[in-house]
Amino acid sequence: MSFVFNPMSIVGLPVQGTDALFPVRRIYCVGRNYAAHAREMGFDPDREPPFFFCKPNDPESIVPVPADEAVSIPYPSETSNYHYEIELVVAIGKDGKNISVEEAASYIYGYAVGLDMTRRDLQMAQREKGRPWEVGKAFDYSAPVGPIHTLADIGELNAGEIHLTVNGQTVQRSDITHLIWNVAETIANLSTLFELKQGDLIFTGTPEGVGAVVAGDEMRAEITGLSGITVKVV
Ligand code: MN
Repeated sequence: MSFVFNPMSIVGLPVQGTDALFPVRRIYCVGRNYAAHAREMGFDPDREPPFFFCKPNDPESIVPVPADEAVSIPYPSETSNYHYEIELVVAIGKDGKNISVEEAASYIYGYAVGLDMTRRDLQMAQREKGRPWEVGKAFDYSAPVGPIHTLADIGELNAGEIHLTVNGQTVQRSDITHLIWNVAETIANLSTLFELKQGDLIFTGTPEGVGAVVAGDEMRAEITGLSGITVKVV
């Protein structure tokens, strides 16, 4: 039997220092995982359990961004409040469920810098009605991600500045240590809900300072120890 049309291709993210690609399976995202960002979104950042949403994994949703080259993404439809969210992205390298916090690092393949682009007006409208967030979060070109740096190369990444500029001006600046649920705790919790598989990506949440971009704006996203990415809105 053959497919009635060509099946979609898998997105591969470059692995820094190699010629290999990391094949992306699912994209999980953590909501409100920095206290100051939870506050700016109108919530009490008490340590409630982490919550998750997903983005699509097709080539129209994920945007691989090389380390040394700016990539353009189109301003999306049906929004007038298109937001950036810089995030540490964790790439999973081993299958597992009910993973303990102590063992979580052994499931990490590597790390990258990502942007959880958001149609904030649509997300908020859905939130107010208790509806799902997909139209605000899971649209085309909503997940730019940089090259993956392997845990084998750089070790566990539990601290380091996370910094986003728009047109050269700092808009988000925090540190990975300010995650409410750190990477190991996030992997442990997520793996009780879903069996994690090689190729999964986890966007770990954004710090405070989210805001809007418009066509012509250029974002530069950096996390200490990882390749920064430059993404332009057109
Ligand atoms: Mn986010």
